[in-house]
Amino acid sequence: MNFVDLHTHSTASDGTLTPEEVVARASFLGLKAIALTDHDTVDGIARAKQAARSSSLELIPGMELSCIYQGTEIHILGFFADETDRQLTKGLNEFRQIRCRRNDNMLRRFQEDGFDITMEDLMHGNSDTVITRAHFARVLTEKGYVSSPAKAFDKYLQYGGPYCTRKETVTPKQVMELMNRCHVWPCLAHPMQYGLGYEETEKLVLLLKELGLRGLEVYHSSHHQPQSARLQVIAKKAGLLPSGGSDFHGGNKPDIELGRGRGGLRVSYALLEDIKDDYKRMVSPSFFSSQPVREPSVLCPEPSSSQALQPLLPAKEHTLPSRGE
Ligand SMILES: [Zn+2]
Repeated sequence: MNFVDLHTHSTASDGTLTPEEVVARASFLGLKAIALTDHDTVDGIARAKQAARSSSLELIPGMELSCIYQGTEIHILGFFADETDRQLTKGLNEFRQIRCRRNDNMLRRFQEDGFDITMEDLMHGNSDTVITRAHFARVLTEKGYVSSPAKAFDKYLQYGGPYCTRKETVTPKQVMELMNRCHVWPCLAHPMQYGLGYEETEKLVLLLKELGLRGLEVYHSSHHQPQSARLQVIAKKAGLLPSGGSDFHGGNKPDIELGRGRGGLRVSYALLEDIKDDYKRMVSPSFFSSQPVREPSVLCPEPSSSQALQPLLPAKEHTLPSRGE
């Protein structure tokens, strides 16, 4: 069976492998396709595409956009992005600017209250990194203001709190509008990571479906099998296609391997075929409206094979505590 990984990160956002290295590693591991889905950017796509040309790997140009749903940061993956689309890159720039303004404001508020934190601390030697609340949590922990990143979130980094206002955030509607406008196939990433519970997750899924959502990341490194089974039901009920990926970040999450997650994740190529069919319907609704909608392929994560793996490149020392923004 051919396997894919539809959720990966490179140095274009917060991964530690370059786009070329991600492609090379995926080829080495025998994957048939990967989606490069860096946070809030398509900057790594051209390089990944170029690298994939000299291999048999299929590269799905993607992205992962953050937005706020009722005070919780959620992530929406987008597949089949055209990285040369000016409308898209302009929209992504605007989102990044909103995030930058938010980060500047947060930093200023901490500094005004006497916290010894600088932008350099937050970037940790990687000027391309997308600064998130996780970066603040790490620095607050490293500097001894809190005992753990989780405490930093509880004490200082709540949305609507004194350091993190809710105003300057991107909404799910804005993300969905940009993706729809730019013909990017939208898929809610790792639904279990938001801690919403199944009922609220279903509500979120239905709200996003109204806005044009087409996929749900049923298989992910952070989901165990019963969760994936439950998400499969939610996806089917909402008329969404299942997707799956590891959320590979290289050395920033050294326990997560491309295509395998923490060991048991295996995502079949059949799932990508369904997504590609649906993408054709999405971009050519009149032509494809007469085509029957196929039932999504059912697949389950399989136990990892005994294929020997090369160790990951050494992790840079800036290991993020979590990826919550
Ligand atoms: Zn991700």
